Amino acid sequence: MSFTLDVRGLNPNLLARYDRPGPRYTSYPTAPHFGADYDSSAYRDRLAKAASRTDDPLSMYVHLPFCHERCTFCGCNVVISPHRGPEEDYLVTLTRELDLLADVLGSRRRLNQLHWGGGTPTFLSPEQCERLFGEITTRFPLTDDAEVAIEVDPCVTTMDHLATLARLGFNRISMGLQDTNPEVQRAVKRIQPLELTREHVDEARRLGFQSVNIDLIYGLPLQTEASFRNCVRSVIDELTPDRVACFSYAHVPWIKPHQKQLDENQLPGGWEKFSLFTGAAHEFVEAGYAFVGFDHFARPDDELARALAEDRIQRNFMGYTVMPAADQVGVGVTAIGDVAGSYAANIKKLPAYKRSIDAGRLPVDRGLIRTAEDELRRAVIHRIICTLQLDFGWVEREFDIDPREHFADALAQLQPMAADRLVELADDGLAVTPTGRFFLRNICMPFDAYLRAADDDGPKYSRTV
Ligand code: SF4
Repeated sequence: MSFTLDVRGLNPNLLARYDRPGPRYTSYPTAPHFGADYDSSAYRDRLAKAASRTDDPLSMYVHLPFCHERCTFCGCNVVISPHRGPEEDYLVTLTRELDLLADVLGSRRRLNQLHWGGGTPTFLSPEQCERLFGEITTRFPLTDDAEVAIEVDPCVTTMDHLATLARLGFNRISMGLQDTNPEVQRAVKRIQPLELTREHVDEARRLGFQSVNIDLIYGLPLQTEASFRNCVRSVIDELTPDRVACFSYAHVPWIKPHQKQLDENQLPGGWEKFSLFTGAAHEFVEAGYAFVGFDHFARPDDELARALAEDRIQRNFMGYTVMPAADQVGVGVTAIGDVAGSYAANIKKLPAYKRSIDAGRLPVDRGLIRTAEDELRRAVIHRIICTLQLDFGWVEREFDIDPREHFADALAQLQPMAADRLVELADDGLAVTPTGRFFLRNICMPFDAYLRAADDDGPKYSRTV
């Protein structure tokens, strides 16, 4: 297994062959394959099953969708509100949703992971944050070692927010930054001085947050390899984040029409965009960060890097995690959960979400109950993403099948990737090469039965590279 960086095998021909739409595998099967036959009553049945596992920890994602204005590059599910006010109503609805969940789940499942994402969670005032935190933890108490994380936008997050969050017990904080280059910030219409982010990082550290994450985005207008390397160096030197997520900008204006505001002529594409990432990865690895999965980097003393070394990393809707939980509930509009062998997706539109809860119904309108075959393929895909290898002996022991036979088709599809030295195929398993780790999504895709079944009009994904 190699988590080091080696870009020598990369070339534009590889990119031309493998840069295509493909899933990011925060779930398997992926969200476009969830069906409307999974509704609130199906979810209720699954929660009832999960309720009996009182000794297993629970993970909770809470979606807080409000932002004051929409960033042109945004790919998240947001509700734009220039003014405060709608969040108060939303908090009431969230509390009712927590009640609906607690009615079925009971109060004996403790949370080992609580994550607030958005939107901008700190659109809520410090007092509202405190109230929501209380509503959650009185129904679902935290374990002593719980990971309690929040995503914040430094532009709207005050020092009062940080102090309140620290006092409540939040121990991980993630700040969106995208790029430090003022020209890029102007092009995407989100001005965020590095100094402002540094003040927030320093204060979070002073308050005792254990881990500070910075989110960067590559593929934005006007970025060049040199400018983005500069950005990465200043992030490392001035912010010294414990973790960094360096996401690929997904330009999907047919799904996110506000992205049409970006000048497509200024968007780096193909090899140019790819070089942004490889250059950034090079800077992080040179500075001692471990390269985790698709696009994450972690300092060697961070829990994520330690978990990587000890083969304990998992992947779920929140990305990479070191806190395995048997069930994960999603709370809030658009939130997705993973409960008792099923995925449950909440309603996407705020009025319909609210109507469902007001009627006493869990606000789920899509989902999927995983079959045994889904579980097998999900485990294989996550194993490849998290450990960069697949041990056939492990598959045999865990699932009582012969992977060479069962996945003969997928292994045949991997042959060209083996010829391109992206993956090494052997009798006892496969291993992703240092070159191949830039094409992890492609290497997983042959194991995705849904993808192979989809026709040209099937679900659309962002590009793999
Ligand atoms: S702050 Fe984040 S979630 Fe809100 S619009 Fe900007 S990118 Fe999207």
